[in-house]
Amino acid sequence: MSYHVNEKGYYGNFGGAYIPEMLYPNVEELRDNYLKIMAEPAFQEEFQELLRDYVGRPSPLYFAKRLSEKYGANIYLKREDLNHTGAHKINNTVGQILLAQRLGKKRIIAETGAGQHGVATATVCALKGIECVVYMGAVDIERQAPNVARMKMMGATVIPATSGSQTLKDATNEALRDWINNPVDTHYIIGSVVGPHPYPDMVARFQAIISEETRKQLTEKIGKPNPDYVMACVGGGSNAIGMFYHFLDQEDVKLIAVEAAGKGVHTGESAATTALGKEGVLHGSRSIVMQTEDGQVIEPYSISAGLDYPGIGPQHAHLHTSARAKYVSITDEESLEAGLQLSRLEGIIPAIESSHALAYLEKMQFKGDETVVVCLSGRGDKDLATYMKYFGL
Ligand SMILES: *Cc1c(COP(=O)(O)O)cnc(C)c1O
Repeated sequence: MSYHVNEKGYYGNFGGAYIPEMLYPNVEELRDNYLKIMAEPAFQEEFQELLRDYVGRPSPLYFAKRLSEKYGANIYLKREDLNHTGAHKINNTVGQILLAQRLGKKRIIAETGAGQHGVATATVCALKGIECVVYMGAVDIERQAPNVARMKMMGATVIPATSGSQTLKDATNEALRDWINNPVDTHYIIGSVVGPHPYPDMVARFQAIISEETRKQLTEKIGKPNPDYVMACVGGGSNAIGMFYHFLDQEDVKLIAVEAAGKGVHTGESAATTALGKEGVLHGSRSIVMQTEDGQVIEPYSISAGLDYPGIGPQHAHLHTSARAKYVSITDEESLEAGLQLSRLEGIIPAIESSHALAYLEKMQFKGDETVVVCLSGRGDKDLATYMKYFGL
């Protein structure tokens, strides 16, 4: 079985490019060029150099000794939280800005919910001196003032989306409208392994550095590249695909993807897409989507903004239905407890997204000497107010 994209842009039954006709030229240009450009030695050289000197890669693979003792396994943390801007998202935006430059684009647009992807995009636009426009729901702009300030500080224009619920989906609509109106000079940076083909594959390839490094680092540390388990949280699924990528064809490695159960899978306040969703089209690709009987997308909920998404990328839908990876979910409370635990055991405050992956350790049974790698997708600075409120600190 292949777990990678085929020539038509599909992973099994999932993927494709379900877009309005007016977007065909933009998406086709990208599809016809992304692999060619990414294979150019000059592209690779610049990408690798920026990952090293700007992002700070390779990110460490840290043996979490006290956490390991607690669970009776050898637990390693892939420290994406130590990247510039504090999460894995920068790997993708660095890759896409280099691609956009080579396509001759003069202007970048992006949509953002909590602002993390907006910040990662504004960062690389400042780095390259390229105009940056970020669409963000008016409600989100209110809620996420520090990230709005970061984007503005780096020179981005933040445009409020004032239609509908004034959140992420409305910002996405505005960004798409902009792209349709500016097909020649503008590149749209999508922030996860979602959207029409080739975005899911392109973003996966930029995030694949996570598992590429992990295999080298494990070889140095334990004398073999494969652990027993690899775990990551899933919103759209980009840190998880990056963490899984070079293990997909290593069938001895078990892959675990952790979704946000919110207040509980069956409470009506959840973002556990594989548990609750059905096949459907969302944001340009066929995948698994949380929807009503008549196909209306259900508003998701999670305490963690990065996991609060009603779908998953098409490659995840394929990994789920083929059972190559196991999809589980963790509630708000379980994730917050895991975040406090890591802070106290290891002196590392994780993003609440990453805490979801950590929380699943509690539900696993280890045979003793097993090796586990958890993707620590981001740092918890942005979440301190939420942690403090929950724990009354
Ligand atoms: C955005 C974000 C996520 C979720 O996005 P994926 O595409 O699923 O990786 C997870 N962790 C952090 C720290 C994030 O900022």
